[in-house]
Formats: sequence, C-alpha cells, structure tokens
Amino acid sequence: HASGQESSTGVQPPPERKKPKAKPMPQDTRVYPAKDLCSKCGFCNTSLVGKVQEACAFLGEGMAKIDRLEEKVHGRQRRLDVEDELYFGVAEAIRPIRVVAERRPSKRAWTGVITSIACEMLRSGRVDAVLCVASASPDKPMEPRPILARTVEEVLASGGVKPTLSPNIMPLELLFSEFGRDIKRLLFIGVGCQVQALRAVEADLGLESLYVLGTNCVDNPRDGEALQRFLRSASETPETATGFEFMQDNRIHVKHRDGRYERVPIFSLKDPHTCTGVIAKSCYSCHDYVNALTDLTVGYMAAPWEGGKMTEHAQYCVIRNQRGREMIDLLEGSGVLELGESAPEGGGFPRDGIIGGVLKPELDLAFGRRQPKEGPPRWLAEFLSDAITVLGPHGADFAKASIDRATLRNIVCARAEGQGDRIAILRPGEKTDG
Ligand code: SF4
Ligand code: SF4
Repeated sequence: HASGQESSTGVQPPPERKKPKAKPMPQDTRVYPAKDLCSKCGFCNTSLVGKVQEACAFLGEGMAKIDRLEEKVHGRQRRLDVEDELYFGVAEAIRPIRVVAERRPSKRAWTGVITSIACEMLRSGRVDAVLCVASASPDKPMEPRPILARTVEEVLASGGVKPTLSPNIMPLELLFSEFGRDIKRLLFIGVGCQVQALRAVEADLGLESLYVLGTNCVDNPRDGEALQRFLRSASETPETATGFEFMQDNRIHVKHRDGRYERVPIFSLKDPHTCTGVIAKSCYSCHDYVNALTDLTVGYMAAPWEGGKMTEHAQYCVIRNQRGREMIDLLEGSGVLELGESAPEGGGFPRDGIIGGVLKPELDLAFGRRQPKEGPPRWLAEFLSDAITVLGPHGADFAKASIDRATLRNIVCARAEGQGDRIAILRPGEKTDG
C-alpha cells in the first residue's frame, strides 16, 4: 500500500497527491534516458519523469532493484533455496487457473482471467479505476492504447492481447488531472518493466490502495512494424491475425478475425525473428520474465499442455501476497474461475543440459555466425514440435526451461554489448558488493 502518516486512530489517511513539477517528455521523443534499451514504458511521458533514475528498469542498477523492491512490496525477498521461488519469485501459492467456458467475460477477452478479475475489482468497488490496455482502433486490435478505465464496459472493450511494447505508465498522469482526482484505489495491469517503474513511485501517486496484476512477458516486438514482420514470418494470412502466443506445444498459435487458429511449429518460421531486429533491445536486457513485483501474475508457461485452443487453455497464476489473494478470493466460489488445488507439476526430459543446445542456434543467428535460412520441411517441423512436446520438459519444468533460456541468452547478449561487468552470477548464499 502507498505509505502515509498514521493517525491517532491507527488508520492511515491517504497520502496527499501533488503533481510533480517535471515536464513530461513528448511522445515522439527519439532518445529516452535509457537510450536504445528503453522499453517505451511511458514513465518518461509523465510528470514523474524527474524520478527516472530510480524508476527505470534499465538505468543505474537496473533490474537488480527487484531484490530490494521484493522486500518492500511483499515483505520479504524470494527464497533462493526454494526452486519455485528462485524461478517464479515470491509466492504465497502457485496454482493452475482458468475461466469457466460459459463465464467468459466477452468475445474480445483472450483467456478471460485478467479481464474477469479486473471487471470484478471495479464491480465490487475495490477499485475506482483500472489501468489496462485497449486496442488503438478496431482495425488494429494488437496495437496498444493504455487507458484508465472507470467502467466495466471500458475494461471489457479492452480485452485481447497486444504483443508489443506499450506505454502503460503514461495514463498515470491522469491521476494528477481533474479526470483522475477522485481515483483513490487503482488496479494496474502490466508487465515487468512497467511494474518496476510503477513500484518505484507508488508512494507519489496519492492512492489509498494499489493492486497490481500482471502477465509473464518475454521477447516483445519493438513496434507495430516489427510485429507485422514477425507475423509475416509465422502466418499464411498475417493481415487477418488478431493475436498470437508461443504455446507449450512448441508452436506459435495465431488467432484470426474469422475465428480460425493457425498452429505454426517454431522450427518452421520463414524468417527467424531473432536475427531480424524484431525483438526490442530492452527485452534482450530483461530479467523479469515472471513479473516479480505484481501482487498476482498470470501466464501460460507453467500450465501443462492440454491441447485445444490457446484462448481456452488453462493458465497458471502466482499469488504473491495478501492483495493477490484478495483478487483471487473475489472470484473464487463465484463459478467464474477454476483454481487448481496444488502447484502445476513438472516432468519430462530433465531440463539440465538441454538449454545450451536450444540456445546455440539462436545465438549463432543473432551474432551472424549463421545466416538465416528456411526451416526444415513442414512435416519435419511438425514432428520435431510434437516430439519435444511429448518428451521435453512439461508444466513447471517447461516454464523453468523457458526462464533459463531467456536469462542465459540475455546474459550473453549483455556481455556482447560490453555490459558484462553489470552482471554477477552468484551461487545461492553468495552476495555482491554492488
Ligand atoms: Fe523512460 Fe521507461 Fe524508457 Fe526507462 S524504459 S527510459 S523509464 S520510458
Ligand atoms: Fe518489458 Fe521485459 Fe516485457 Fe520487454 S520482455 S516488454 S523489457 S517486461
């Protein structure tokens, strides 16, 4: 909760909200403080920009701030001797989760978990507003337009994935305007780099309470053009795509406007995206795949593959603290959400030792040691995806292998960029002096 002075009754009055004096950077700014590592999180486009050094996930000590912020937000750091926490962050509980098919909140919603929680937070009066991401326009469903939604209808209209960088912090500026003056309780929905910036200025927002709900996030296309380039590489009809997801069957699932789903083996991308500048540089510097500073994180990767459509597939959630629990409790028992009773299981081929083999071709492409070429024939790509899905790591182990891959790749990339001195690889129990 945002900090405030304690009154004689023991109840904390909300902190005063004062508009900071700094001038927001214009949206067409070409060079942001984090330069080419900037994830365009929107923080610099607000009057909070004076605190960019403390808030930005890519300046100063960067994402190493998470250690300290975990303590502040969750009351403790993650336990490094508990493997699930080492990977997924502070966790009161990790559970499979899904929306019951008949209770999907809207046709636009993706799996509906986040939209259902956000709507219920507003309906129940827990929050006055939800900061979420709408589409830029009906013909650009994947282009993000972050909004401060005051009604359930606005939240419902914003459903669906926007798989690209998004300036989610920007609408916080409205809290300092007439429009947002009466917003005292807020639900923020976002990804790791945005949530880190938010947490750094939480106490400056003059809120009585802040709930933070987020998703896993990795390898985002840097803009709409890069997103289209990726889709042209993956899909037969990229112009009708309304969303996509990398799924646990080692395929990219693309959803189309006419309700059709394409399932593309990751080995058959026509133009391997890792070597064509599609992914934002920020995402090669990111070490917060699991969004460690949310109250509740929702994602696919640890849910064991069960087949079917990605929009109906089970997800998993990490309930990190009391506020995360409150969000789940609001819907549990309502018949909207199904929550598993225990953490998703792992299994399959041991992940130790396979990551090098997975990473090497990707890094060879990224560093120009190998030229991009057409993937194997489709039948072989399908076979490989099936074989790895059946034999490879499953469920929680699939997620841990994905986190290992992203973490190690980003360490290699940071070293290649001459940033290696900013990384210390520690054994459990070791500490750095910086
Ligand atoms: Fe500013 Fe956000 Fe870019 Fe950092 S990542 S420079 S805080 S806009
Ligand atoms: Fe931000 Fe990391 Fe997601 Fe990139 S991968 S958008 S840096 S949270």
